[in-house]
Amino acid sequence: MLLTPPIQRTGSSSKVPMADSEMTSFGEHMLRIKEKCLCWILVQEKVLTTDDLQKRGWPHHDQCALCNGPLETCLHLSLLCPFVKAVWSQVLSWEHFDVQLIHPTQDPPHLKSWWEEAATKIAKQERRRFNGMVIYTLWNIWKERNRRIFNNAHESALQVALRVKEDIEQRKRALAWGGGNIVGGIV
Ligand SMILES: [Zn+2]
Repeated sequence: MLLTPPIQRTGSSSKVPMADSEMTSFGEHMLRIKEKCLCWILVQEKVLTTDDLQKRGWPHHDQCALCNGPLETCLHLSLLCPFVKAVWSQVLSWEHFDVQLIHPTQDPPHLKSWWEEAATKIAKQERRRFNGMVIYTLWNIWKERNRRIFNNAHESALQVALRVKEDIEQRKRALAWGGGNIVGGIV
């Protein structure tokens, strides 16, 4: 039963009512696009991390916002930062993937090469779930980095991991509610 009146699609001559659940799916669909865009940018190393800001002579922090360690690069922010490794380890453990995936014997040269290599170690039927987890993890790490830089607020690695878990659970619920047609094609 709808608790609020049906929402009308704007700009549509037919004025087809949109149910709340449909709106939720649409909102989640748009969020998935943002998450995927960020991951694509990170994989391509096109995101403006502080090493890029330094090269351009723009204002920047000299240390990683997450660990106060070395200058932030795309690879450090995605995989090598100790804070980030703690988030990854927790999420991988909760999702029953091998925690050692985030502790390779050699540091990967790029996020892309790590992701491709890690995916080969995941059973084919689990690969989509794994890729979704990677996207949610990168997205929430990026949000935590921005929270620290722009909002002067910070969360623990466990809190960030819980945000990833909640995103994963939300997707599962969206699929269970029938949002699979929209959301399922995204991750
Ligand atoms: Zn760091």
